[in-house]
Amino acid sequence: MDCIFCKIVEGTVPSNKVYEDEKIVAFKDINPEAPVHIVIIPKEHIESVKELDDNNAQIVSHIILAAKKIAKDLGISESGFRIVNNCGKDGGQTVPHLHFHLLGGRDMQWPPG
Ligand code: 5GP
Ligand code: ZN
Repeated sequence: MDCIFCKIVEGTVPSNKVYEDEKIVAFKDINPEAPVHIVIIPKEHIESVKELDDNNAQIVSHIILAAKKIAKDLGISESGFRIVNNCGKDGGQTVPHLHFHLLGGRDMQWPPG
């Protein structure tokens, strides 16, 4: 399958990994929108939130708990952070492999554009 994030999981495309366990990988975004911008993905290819159901949705809580740990490790836990999921075209999803953005290190502003 021609999926850039599956290739990052396999290691055939390089990435700056900040966290990995048996279910997920987290790496620095290639085009960061904030001083800290990490992409957290399941190792399993799930296209988007739309493909989640009762059988696989527990990966989301696993990712959120990892984001909490990564935020602490990268020094943005106290200052605060944002976790974002983009789904589909209008949601701004450009890579069709489920992922969550962990952003911080500056005032992220709300509402987003
Ligand atoms: P989306 O727009 O789909 O929510 O987010 C995809 C993110 O993946 C973007 O922020 C983009 O910069 C990042 N990205 C796309 N390709 C690569 C890559 O090959 N390596 C890394 N590290 N990040 C990537
Ligand atoms: Zn994939």
